[in-house]
Amino acid sequence: MPWRREYEKQRGSSNVSHYPEPELDELYRELILDHYRNPRNHGKLSEPDVVGEGYNPLCGDEIEVQVRLEDGRITEAAFSGRGCSISQASGSMMTEAVKGKSVDDVVALADAFMQMMKDPDFEPPEEMGDLEAFQGVARFPVRVKCATLAWHALQEGLKRRSD
Ligand code: ZN
Repeated sequence: MPWRREYEKQRGSSNVSHYPEPELDELYRELILDHYRNPRNHGKLSEPDVVGEGYNPLCGDEIEVQVRLEDGRITEAAFSGRGCSISQASGSMMTEAVKGKSVDDVVALADAFMQMMKDPDFEPPEEMGDLEAFQGVARFPVRVKCATLAWHALQEGLKRRSD
């Protein structure tokens, strides 16, 4: 994405940030902070079909993900927990991203997300949408677990249900 590189160039090296989180592209950082401050789908569902939990000892992040299924499609999704801005924003954005999608599409999206977090040069597919905001975190290996926690919790929950 050339516009992004251009944008980073404009920011220049004089931009000294005292922000304690990894330095991400400004727009993406704001998106992540917005989801952290105003989490979407935060809480618990009544009678969830899938429940998954995750704990990241490196950072102390905890997350519980719940979804409701209807005809192989996720109709509702929620998360609860506590932790750093990246882990909680990821839970918020993940629940937004999976609602309305089929389980198969969600499994594929989770795989793509994991791949993106392993490889900073990964070209995210279009379905990634706003989730692309987390790609910058891939450059900070100690924070990758924060970003993937909610996805691991969902994968684990879905897997347990199908076993
Ligand atoms: Zn964290």
